Amino acid sequence: MQKSTINPLQKPSNISRAHLAARCQAKSKRTGYTCKAPAIRGKDKCRMHGGKGSGAPKGKANGRFRHGLYTDANKGEIACVRELMREFNQFAKEI
Ligand SMILES: [Zn+2]
Repeated sequence: MQKSTINPLQKPSNISRAHLAARCQAKSKRTGYTCKAPAIRGKDKCRMHGGKGSGAPKGKANGRFRHGLYTDANKGEIACVRELMREFNQFAKEI
């Protein structure tokens, strides 16, 4: 039997550690295969598939913010008012 050159007690090289990194789970719509690029630390996507950021800042921190009518918080209120109006109209029709 030939003696192995790999010492399991030795610290792995940076390249082999990089190969062990978590892989991106994004799926290609052309091939159907997963991306397999190294994922951003703590995330399941790579730098190219949105692993780095969480999108544009919300609310007034966003440069496109004008009056807050279309913010996520306000959209919930608008939907609630619309639902009430729908119920009211239904009630008005029944009378
Ligand atoms: Zn990816």
